[in-house]
Amino acid sequence: MINNEMKHLGEERSAIIELFEKGKILKEKYGDDGVYDFSIGNPNIPCPDIINETLVKLINDTNPTILHGYTSIQGDKNVRDSISAYLDKTYNANTKGELIYITVGTAAGLAVSLKALTSGSGADEVLVFSPYFPEYAVFIHNANAKIVCANTNESDFKPDFTDLENKITKDTHVVIINSPNNPTGVLYDEITIKNVCALLENKQKKYGHPIYLISDEPYRELIYNGATYPFITNYYDNSIVTYSFSKSISLAGERIGYILVNPKCENAKDVYAAICGAGRSLGYVCAPSLFQYLIPHILGHTSDISIYDKNAKLLYKELSNIGFKPLKPDGAFYLFVKALEDDDEAFSKRATNYNLLLVPSTSFGIKGYVRIAYCVSEKMILDSIPRFKELYDSYH
Ligand code: PLP
Repeated sequence: MINNEMKHLGEERSAIIELFEKGKILKEKYGDDGVYDFSIGNPNIPCPDIINETLVKLINDTNPTILHGYTSIQGDKNVRDSISAYLDKTYNANTKGELIYITVGTAAGLAVSLKALTSGSGADEVLVFSPYFPEYAVFIHNANAKIVCANTNESDFKPDFTDLENKITKDTHVVIINSPNNPTGVLYDEITIKNVCALLENKQKKYGHPIYLISDEPYRELIYNGATYPFITNYYDNSIVTYSFSKSISLAGERIGYILVNPKCENAKDVYAAICGAGRSLGYVCAPSLFQYLIPHILGHTSDISIYDKNAKLLYKELSNIGFKPLKPDGAFYLFVKALEDDDEAFSKRATNYNLLLVPSTSFGIKGYVRIAYCVSEKMILDSIPRFKELYDSYH
């Protein structure tokens, strides 16, 4: 006997992967240069030289039984301490290595945190803001909790506070924020963060239990125009950060990241113990040791993210000139654009006639938009513009 729910999950591909796979078929027909694949958030900028240089050094200079052996289940102590020192220095935070759990990317960080912070009774609610990263729904379901979607404003895709006020109930135990955001590219500024936190503080008082705020931060360093990042532990005590080295330093395939429990969290040690227990129960123990040992050497480094900034500005300008309505991105590497018909899936399908692969927003929980991942070459963006024009003209 097999678990049919798992079978379904394994067979049902996400819209992003569906499109990515369609791209492969189109590329066989039209060649790599004839398909404009904006489907997937896979960094195209190479990681900085320090990565390979350090890996070679680690391989040459470290006892292999240590380098490739098990670390502590929650990650090597020195590595965790180095992350904590870096966060304290960079964000003026007050973290502790003993409250950090190293994971295989943020995907695992989220699955573990959600399992740890909800009771598993089926009644606990986890609130996310629409549009949201689709895997949140999978991880919430796996924790046997309920997903509740709160609206964002159509003008800036920041939280709609009236809706948020209504959606937080006595059953809300976790709220997830993701800034800079996938799929909108929006950064929550300090005022927004303060307003979310103030509302949650009030609700915690009203309901008499903690409401944990998970800040999902795989795009933390991918911010443009000189903006600063409001680091969540400085604003809200019951906060947990899930971080990943996937995006801003282009290590997506190496699967390395961490969970940070704010030391000011109510019963922080118990929360951390639950994180360790959830990691154990899900089998996410002892993240890849070679990449753990790399971490202290690369903290504070990124790929050349000015390239994404340039891509963002180019695509925004060119699409606006044609007549599309993109949202100006503050960060990450996604442009969120109004579809030219209400049915974003039909729009995305029509775009494939022009070999443009754009992810329909329905997969992110809202209707009427597409996501364009611009972690691609400048040449591909420039070559795609005439096809965007043809797509636009086909509606006018
Ligand atoms: N969270 C968000 C918002 C993402 O966009 C992604 C990946 O695209 C993840 C989490 C998972 O990233 P990873 O597991 O590579 O760290």
